[in-house]
Amino acid sequence: MCAYALQKAGVDVLLVETSPRVGGVINSLARDGFLLELGPQSFAGTLQLRGLCEELGIADQLLEAPAKAPRYVLIGGTLEPVPMSPPAFFMSKLINGSTKWALARDIFGKSTPPDGDESVAAFVRRKFSDQLLDRLVGPFVSGVYAGDPDKLSIRSAFPMLYEAEKASGSIVRGMFRVAKNKKGPRERPTLNTFLEGNETLVHALSNKLGSAVRTGTSVIRIGKQSNGAFEVRLETKSNSDAIVAESLILATPTNITGSLLAQLDASFESLLGPVEYAAVAVVSLGYHKSEVGHSLDGFGFLVPRSAGVRILGTVWNSSLFPGRAPDGQALLTTFVGGATDLGAAKLTHEELSTLVHREIAPLLSVKSAPTFCNVTIWPRALPQYNLGHGDRLASIAKNLTRFPGLFLAGNYLRGPAIGSCVEQALSVADEVLAADRAGSA
Ligand SMILES: Cc1cc2nc3c(=O)[nH]c(=O)nc-3n(C[C@H](O)[C@H](O)[C@H](O)COP(=O)(O)OP(=O)(O)OC[C@H]3O[C@@H](n4cnc5c(N)ncnc54)[C@H](O)[C@@H]3O)c2cc1C
Repeated sequence: MCAYALQKAGVDVLLVETSPRVGGVINSLARDGFLLELGPQSFAGTLQLRGLCEELGIADQLLEAPAKAPRYVLIGGTLEPVPMSPPAFFMSKLINGSTKWALARDIFGKSTPPDGDESVAAFVRRKFSDQLLDRLVGPFVSGVYAGDPDKLSIRSAFPMLYEAEKASGSIVRGMFRVAKNKKGPRERPTLNTFLEGNETLVHALSNKLGSAVRTGTSVIRIGKQSNGAFEVRLETKSNSDAIVAESLILATPTNITGSLLAQLDASFESLLGPVEYAAVAVVSLGYHKSEVGHSLDGFGFLVPRSAGVRILGTVWNSSLFPGRAPDGQALLTTFVGGATDLGAAKLTHEELSTLVHREIAPLLSVKSAPTFCNVTIWPRALPQYNLGHGDRLASIAKNLTRFPGLFLAGNYLRGPAIGSCVEQALSVADEVLAADRAGSA
């Protein structure tokens, strides 16, 4: 996205990608009449992303999930609907009286966040209750970060909540204030994919970039020339060469970024290398609809860690978007692993598919074996915005000021969601252009 924005602004760019395909974890697969996503299942259709889809000529391929599709959470062995509005929250039987009272106390009272970094779990316990943490926040955290609420930093992982309390003394009042003060047109929250899967976005960008994309090529070393330019050594299976670049944007995961930048300054590696990643297994199963007792009317469900099952949650793909499964069949994608179950991603594909079928079958009244199965294991799926992440990013940013022309992008910086990555990539493109203008002034 960053390369596309720069090319559009007239900059001579080269995008180097180690794998034979672009897109990283965004990977759509059509097989046996099913259309599945091996990584992200859908994305929030932010105004910025929708605008880009218009510009790329793919807006007509966008699909939108039913706005009111209910989400469920597994409580006491049954799938209970998640309350999606403040009145529904107060009416919900998922939440006990003392949690509702804590919410009222937040709305009418005043609190101050502690000075130091605070974990998501400590934040929810301080402001609300253990029950809210277990039943709603924990599962939500699994859904976004596959993370551990006791380790994730509220400031880094959910900055809006931290800022809301800091500015207004109340999460609810603060969030309303942010929504009211937001400039520009009101965003309608939507969940999207494309007719042919999420990869449509990546293909469209890659087509625009044309010969500026080099796949199957790894960046293996970075040096700095005396004139300030970067010498970047590239390697393919059969040869290696070097290019010289005025600006360099590293959009690689932190372990790679750290080791590449260690050649410029060793402290990059000690700052970037230790960022933890959660491993996630993505298990897509197909079933004959007639063999599934549950209506599958909704988005899917999330699982509190206290529920006694290993799966993190399941997305009902074929209920959300057309064309995900052959007629008469359903496609369900389940996530296993994350920061609270380090062993899961070490299971074999067969063990994972057996585990998922065994755990979802009683919940959805599935009467027979799956007709289709696909398992993908991402050993470094999602970066964890754990305690200290904010200080780590500040130190990295400080280091970067000593290397004009060097920029970082990627999902460990401003949020892992596709929309946040796009926003960050475009703001890096703006920074590159601004630095270029300042250099030539
Ligand atoms: C299982 C899963 C489910 C998710 N679900 C959702 C979801 O539903 N909605 C949502 O919005 N987000 C979701 N996300 C998050 C989102 O998809 C990612 O955070 C985002 O796509 C990551 O983009 P990235 O470019 O930072 O990293 P990556 O996609 O990891 O890209 C990094 C790229 O760098 C390349 N590379 C590495 N080393 C080198 C080198 N030396 N030289 C050249 N290239 C190199 C890699 O090959 C890779 O292509 C999910 C992520 C996962 C893994």
